[in-house]
Amino acid sequence: MKPTLKILESKPTIEGAGVRLKRAFGYNEAPLLDPFLLLDDFGSDKPRDYILGFPWHPHRGIETVTYVLTGVIKHEDSLGNKGVIESGDVQWMTAGSGIIHQEMPQQYEGRMWGFQLWVNLPASCKMMNPRYQEIKKEQIPEISFGKGITLKVICGEVKGAKGPVQDIIVDPTYLDVSLVPHAEFNFSVRKGHQVFAYIIEGNGYFYPQTKKAIGVERVVIFSDVEKIKISTYEHNLRFLLISGKPIKEPVAWYGPIVMNTQEELDVAFEEYRTGTFIKYRGEKK
Ligand code: FE
Repeated sequence: MKPTLKILESKPTIEGAGVRLKRAFGYNEAPLLDPFLLLDDFGSDKPRDYILGFPWHPHRGIETVTYVLTGVIKHEDSLGNKGVIESGDVQWMTAGSGIIHQEMPQQYEGRMWGFQLWVNLPASCKMMNPRYQEIKKEQIPEISFGKGITLKVICGEVKGAKGPVQDIIVDPTYLDVSLVPHAEFNFSVRKGHQVFAYIIEGNGYFYPQTKKAIGVERVVIFSDVEKIKISTYEHNLRFLLISGKPIKEPVAWYGPIVMNTQEELDVAFEEYRTGTFIKYRGEKK
């Protein structure tokens, strides 16, 4: 198969209780990105765009990864976790059989900016116990990756640097990569893994195809690519590079719940209505 790139543009949307964000990809594009379901880019210097937040809501059948570049998000969940995700921190939440949580961005001086990725779970893990990993900025290794290239390893392993997010079912790699002008990034893709880049600063050239520089708020999906090559010319470039093992199962998805069949979705919403949604509340403390 010939290596190809597909480029998507993020779209403005409103989520939660009225948060204005950009959806890099979601429901319609997810079939191209298995095992990834959705990527939201929430960035604004106007508190009214985010302050209403994401009050109490359920999730089942997925994992969510929240990466805050700048800002503060308070969260609370049905496992009894309570905390703040601050600039540079990551929260990896496995909803499994069910979690009810709220995620509330706090008023922040300057630009509040972060990302939430949804990762699907295979049928065998959809009803696993929910769990949750909170990663502080200091725990995320930042390494030099050749001339003019630095990267943060959030999940996965690069040049012996291990990301602090562990045991995620689809075995993903999640990197935050920065290139200065006139740099070239070469990276080997794990066989059979789905890979995409989401550009968050500057622009760059993505091979094999692009003749024009690709800039911010674009998703580049790599298909049948064994080696990724990305270069910069007169601008810098920063992007998230995310890969994972495709699940290749049917997807039944409504709102915050993603299962394999419509019946499972109906059960989930019925349980949420009748108060039997939560199957596991964590170890007794
Ligand atoms: Fe949520």
